[in-house]
Parts: sequence; C-alpha cells; structure tokens
Amino acid sequence: MNFKVPRGTQDILPTETWKWQKVERIINEVCDLYRYQEIRTPMFEQTELFQRTVGDTTDIVQKEMYTFTDRGNRSLTLRPEGTASVVRSFVEHKMFGYPDQPVKLYYTGPMFRYERQQAGRYRQFVQFGVEAIGSADPAIDAEVIGLAMDVYKRAGLTELKLIINSLGDTDSRKEHREALVSHFNPHIAEFCSDCQSRIEKNPLRILDCKVDSGNPLMASAPSLADYLNEESASYFENVKSYLDDAGIPYVVDANLVRGLDYYNHTAFEIMSTSSGFGAITTLCGGGRYNGLAEEIGGPPAPGIGFAMSIERLLLAMEAEGKSFTDEPALDVYIVTLGDSARRPGFKLLGELRAADIRSDMDYMDRKMKAQMKSADRLEAKTVIIIGEDEVAEGVAQVKNMVDGTQEKIPFAELVVTIKNKLK
Ligand code: ATP
Ligand code: MG
Repeated sequence: MNFKVPRGTQDILPTETWKWQKVERIINEVCDLYRYQEIRTPMFEQTELFQRTVGDTTDIVQKEMYTFTDRGNRSLTLRPEGTASVVRSFVEHKMFGYPDQPVKLYYTGPMFRYERQQAGRYRQFVQFGVEAIGSADPAIDAEVIGLAMDVYKRAGLTELKLIINSLGDTDSRKEHREALVSHFNPHIAEFCSDCQSRIEKNPLRILDCKVDSGNPLMASAPSLADYLNEESASYFENVKSYLDDAGIPYVVDANLVRGLDYYNHTAFEIMSTSSGFGAITTLCGGGRYNGLAEEIGGPPAPGIGFAMSIERLLLAMEAEGKSFTDEPALDVYIVTLGDSARRPGFKLLGELRAADIRSDMDYMDRKMKAQMKSADRLEAKTVIIIGEDEVAEGVAQVKNMVDGTQEKIPFAELVVTIKNKLK
C-alpha cells in the first residue's frame, strides 16, 4: 500500500522549510517592533464559536469546515481562521482588564478549510494574523495595515496593491441592507440557491458571490459608500488620512466586501500585482470587527485585524522573482580517517558547537574522498582532517575551502583558531 499526503495538504521539505523559517523570523521581528505579542490558541474549538462569529451564511461555515464529534459527543471544528479563537481567548482571559489597551496580539499557525485545491489554495495552510482589540481609534487601523505591508516589504515584495473600503457601522449597514433587498428581491429567482438564502440572512454577501458575479444587477447594486452615515464616513476619512500620513498608498474599492459576517467600518485587502502570480491575487485580508467580543459574551471591545497565508506570500515572492539568499553554509566539516581518529573528532565536534560554530562530521564510515565531497556539497567553509598520524601528533589538518590553503594546528588551539578565522 502506498500512502500519500491527504488532498489539499503538502509536506514542506527541508529545501523549503528554511524559507518558511525566514518568513517567520520576519513576522516575529516586525510584530516585536510594533509591540504585538504572540498568542497560541488550540487548533480546534467548539463548532458553535465559528458558527456564531464567522457566520452561518458564509462559505467557510456552510461548506469548508472540518467538523467532527469527539468521543465525549462534543462537536468540534478544526479552526478555519484565527480571529474567532483570539477574541474568544481575549474574552475568556478578561484581557479587556489589562492596563495597556488596546491588546495587540499575533499568531502564526495552520488553518483548515475544505476547499478545492489549486495554486495558492490548500486545505491546510498557515496563516499569520494580527488582532488589535480594545481601541476604536482610526490610527490603529492604519497601524495594522502598515504592519502587514511591512512584512511584505521585508520579504522583498514591491508589486503590491492595497485596497480599502468602509462597510460602515451597524446603522449604515442596516440601511444599505434594506436597499440591497429591494434591489435584488424582484429578480432573486435568477440567482444561485446560495444567493437566494443570503438575501434573507445576509444580502451583503450576494455581492461577494462567485457564481453570479456576471449578473448586471451586481454592477448596479446600491453601493455601501452612499449609505455611510456621518460618523462612519468621518471614521473612514480619518483612516485614509492616517494612511496618507504613514506614506502608505491605497485605492478605495467600493465593491470590496469581506466574506466574514463580523466586519464593520474598515475592510482591506492586499493583492499582488505581479504578472507571474496567476488567478488568485489576494495575499492578505482584514478589517474591523467592533461587535465581535460582545457577540461571544464579552464586553464591548472594538477590534481590527488581518490574516495572510505564508503559502501565498512565498508564491508572490516567486512571481516577483525575489528569493531569500541561499541556505547558510556549514562552518566546519570534520573528516576522520580510521578508528583512532573518530573519538577525538567527535569530541572536537562538541567543542565547536559549544562555541557556536555550525559543524558536522561523517557518520557513514566513508573514504576520505567521499567525506570531502560531502563537505563540498554542504558548502563547509572549513574542513578539519584527522587521521591516525594527526592523532599521534596531537594536531589536525585545517583546510580553508575558499582558497584551498591547508595548515597543521594543535588540538588545543583548534576552536579558538577557527572562531577567529570565521570572524
Ligand atoms: P479567498 O477569496 O482567496 O478564498 P478568503 O476571503 O477566504 O480568500 P480570508 O479568510 O480573508 O480569505 O483569509 C485571509 C488570507 O488567508 C487570504 O488572503 C489568503 O492569503 C489566505 N488564505 C485563505 N484561504 C486560503 C487557502 N485555502 N490556502 C492558502 N491561503 C489561504
Ligand atoms: Mg476562501
């Protein structure tokens, strides 16, 4: 029997993991710079959490969740996204009581959605996301957007487009919702069955429908922008001017509606404009969710956040022809010849590592030539050769692989000498 990874998942092999680690390092650095702290929540939650927050009318809840019953008959779901868990944790641990508000959190970890696999779309993927909870200051919207842009910039991406929109507050959304219902209702029979249920539950989501996107009623639908009340309009103006102040270019797109139920006010996406990127261009999506904490039993705590997948970030780098510099080379490879050389070689290996020198040795009992080839492939900067003669003399041959020179160095001086050479 041959086993394969489940459809929609992938093994990330050592030829790729080092790139993931670089991205994760960038994420940790940028978040630290902005004073966002990491939170780690479980990979599964009560199913109801996602039904309540992501929303019953969304594709995620209707079609994409990995839901199962455990042995105690509880309905659990592998998390399809991170915000619900973070806000659940915020409420559960009463973070609203922390002296420093807003609470600024980030996470990196796998998410699960039952989707049709294609490039940039997997059933298990890794999202990095940020949530700033407890402030309704438009400046924090600009900070969160700026943080996402900074991560992409540090990964070397330049072909990016930021689009933003305002969904308005609850009152604005209500009026817009009524206008949408009157607009679509007379013709709803022409629309897909999903849209027919959306018109009752959440008509805004009709605008996000992938099946009916070509219907002319979509283009003529009432625009959110015309329904923003004064407060919502002024909030949006402020977000834009903070983005201007931060020197972050953006395009307002009145058609941007985010898929999840819990958004209000600011919504944004960052796309790759690189011609090599293919059909899916969205790298990152986010927005404000002022009612979410209350929805799950907490006090009012306005929040804003985003999520991006590492998979799409790496794809965008490839599309732009940007790559990280190569895997760092090995500092030292120890070649040992004969039984008597092996033990001093192994001991030396430990001493090198204790001195922060990245080193390795042969464990296959191979001939000199094969060991030297390994050293070459691993791009070792230095090779230390220990044979029986060397052991007798208390020295080792140290070969500089860059210029080919070789010298004899007493065992006791090896670590210090190599440390100095590497500087
Ligand atoms: P899409 O319209 O592409 O399905 P979405 O609206 O479902 O995106 P969000 O839920 O907002 O996406 O997730 C935020 C980000 O997570 C996306 O912009 C994308 O980078 C990433 N993402 C979402 N789904 C997947 C997936 N199945 N595989 C890889 N990355 C994903
Ligand atoms: Mg999706």
